[in-house]
Amino acid sequence: MKHIILGNGPAGVVASETIRKADPDAEITMVGDEPEPPYSRMAIPYLLQGDIQEDGTYLRKDAGHFERLRINLVAGHAEAVDTKARQVRLRGGTTLAYDRLLIVTGAHATKPPVAGIDLPSVQTCWTLADARNIAALAKRGSRVLQIGAGFIGCITMEALANRGVHLTVVEMGDRMVPRMMTPVAGAMIKKWCEKKGVRVHTRARVVSVRPDMKRAGSLFVEIDSGDELPADLVICAAGVRPNIDFLAGSGIATDVGVVVDDHLRTNVPDVYAAGDVAEAMDFSTGERGINAIQPNAVDQGRVAALNMAGKETRSVRSLAINVLQTLGLVSSSFGKWWGEIDGQSAEAVDAENFRYLSLQFKDDILIGATSIGLTENVGVLRGLIQTRKHLGTWKDELLRDPTRVMQASLAASVAVGAGVPSASRRASK
Ligand SMILES: Cc1cc2nc3c(=O)[nH]c(=O)nc-3n(C[C@H](O)[C@H](O)[C@H](O)COP(=O)(O)OP(=O)(O)OC[C@H]3O[C@@H](n4cnc5c(N)ncnc54)[C@H](O)[C@@H]3O)c2cc1C
Repeated sequence: MKHIILGNGPAGVVASETIRKADPDAEITMVGDEPEPPYSRMAIPYLLQGDIQEDGTYLRKDAGHFERLRINLVAGHAEAVDTKARQVRLRGGTTLAYDRLLIVTGAHATKPPVAGIDLPSVQTCWTLADARNIAALAKRGSRVLQIGAGFIGCITMEALANRGVHLTVVEMGDRMVPRMMTPVAGAMIKKWCEKKGVRVHTRARVVSVRPDMKRAGSLFVEIDSGDELPADLVICAAGVRPNIDFLAGSGIATDVGVVVDDHLRTNVPDVYAAGDVAEAMDFSTGERGINAIQPNAVDQGRVAALNMAGKETRSVRSLAINVLQTLGLVSSSFGKWWGEIDGQSAEAVDAENFRYLSLQFKDDILIGATSIGLTENVGVLRGLIQTRKHLGTWKDELLRDPTRVMQASLAASVAVGAGVPSASRRASK
C-alpha cells in the first residue's frame, strides 16, 4: 500500500508515524515544500523571544527518526492531483503514485489588499523564514506595527514585547481577539495591553503603507481615521487561508478548506484531509469549520491515518479550545463561547484584577465559556463542555455565581460516578 502525505507539519508527521505503527509494510512518503525539517509553527514565538533556537522548533529532534521509521521525506511542492490516475504532480514535473492520499498542506498567512503591503519590512509571521526576517528587523527600541489582534496576533505580540520593541496594534474589530473572546473579555485584554505600554487601535482599518522618505527602511501606515503611524516593521497577522489551490480540477470537494467527513475522508475514495487545511464537523456547532490549532491538527492526522491504514476510526469532532497568553495575561475560550439565542448565560467581571468568567448554557449543559486570569478553571471548563455533563440544580447555582464551576464539576462527576440518577439529571427532564 502506497501512502502519500502532502504536507509535513504536525498533522503530516503524526499521520505518517501512525500509519507506520498500524501497517509495518506500507510505503510512506511525506512531501513538504519548506526547506527545514518538519517543524511546529507554534514554537515560532519562543524562537522570536530567544527561548529556543531553530532546532527547538523541529517536531522530531532525532535526525534519524524518519529514516528509521522508513518514512521517505520528499522536498517538493505539490502542483496538481490527478485522482483518476492516482497521481500527484510536483513542481518540476515529478509524479508520485498513491493508493491512499492525505492532504495536510495547512494554511498560509494572507495580507490585506492595500497599497504598499508588499514593501520590504511588511512581514507575515507564519513560517521559519518569516521568523528570521522579523528577528532581523524587530530590534530593541524599533517600532513595530502589527495588523490584526486575533489568536496568532496576540501570541506574536508577547514575543515581540519580549524583544523590547515599541508595539502598536491595529485591529478591525471592536475589541481584541474578536472571533474568540466576548466583548467584555476582548475589551479587558485591550486594557491590559495598553497598561503594558502597547498602543491598541480597535475599529481601525489599515488603508495604505508607504515608505518614510526621510528614514530608509521605515514606513508610514495610514489607518482609516486618517492617522499615519510610523513603523520600522509591519507584521500582518490578519488572517490565513488553507492551501488548496493545487486541488483545482482534481474533483476533491473544497469550500474554504477541503471538505471531510467524520472519518476525515474527502468525497473522492482513498483521499483524506486533516489539520488546518481540512473543513471538518465542529463538536459544538455540528457544522463544518476549520479549527486551526495544533492539537486539532494532530488528532485529525491520527484519525485520518488510522482510516488510511484500514482501521476504521471516527473522529470525536473538534472542540474549539483557545488558550492564549497576551503579554502575560492568560485568556481562554471554549466551544460555543458566544452562546445560543435560547440558552442562558452568566458573567463574573473583576475589571480591576483582570479576572473574568462567562458561561453559556443550553438547558443544564455547559456549551461554551470564556475566561481571563482564572487558569485553575481551564481544564474543568473544557471537561464539562466536552463531556456534555448535565449540571441540573448546579446550573442555577452557576447562573448566580459562575466562579463555582469547580464545585459544580465535582458534584456532577460524583453523581455520574455513583451510578445513580443525579438530582441534576432529574432536574433537567
Ligand atoms: C506564530 C504561530 C503561533 C501559533 N501558536 C499556536 C498555539 O499556541 N497553539 C496552537 O494550538 N496552535 C498554534 N498555531 C497554529 C498551529 O501552528 C497550526 O494549527 C498547525 O501548524 C497546523 O498543522 P498542519 O499540519 O495542519 O499545517 P502546517 O503546520 O501549516 O503544515 C503544513 C505543511 O505543508 C506544507 N505545504 C503546503 N502546501 C504544500 C504543497 N502544495 N506541497 C507540499 N507541501 C505543502 C507547508 O509548507 C507546511 O510545511 C500557531 C501558528 C503560528 C503561525
